[in-house]
Amino acid sequence: MNAIVKPETDVRVEDKLFQNRYQVDAGRPHIKVAPHDKPSASLLALTRVCPAKCYEQNDRGQVEITADGCMECGTCRVLCEASGEIEWNYPRGGYGVLFKFG
Ligand code: SF4
Repeated sequence: MNAIVKPETDVRVEDKLFQNRYQVDAGRPHIKVAPHDKPSASLLALTRVCPAKCYEQNDRGQVEITADGCMECGTCRVLCEASGEIEWNYPRGGYGVLFKFG
């Protein structure tokens, strides 16, 4: 007899992401924003496109990052590493995101 498996239709993405864990490497962020007075359009876009909401504007309009919670998707790297606006590295071994597929 075949069992019928119902798809998980009412599971939210936020609930799935909540399963992930993050090991903070205190004082050694793996992504840094280069000093700037006014952010470029690409740098400013990071405040909207980062799925972990790691980028924010401070009260002077500059873009800052808090890399805790970064999912290493690479979106910011594609947008701003080549221009030198950010420096992007993987976290050291044992640190960073730990994906859970529960
Ligand atoms: S790699 Fe992805 S999740 Fe991490 S800071 Fe960049 S855009 Fe955000």
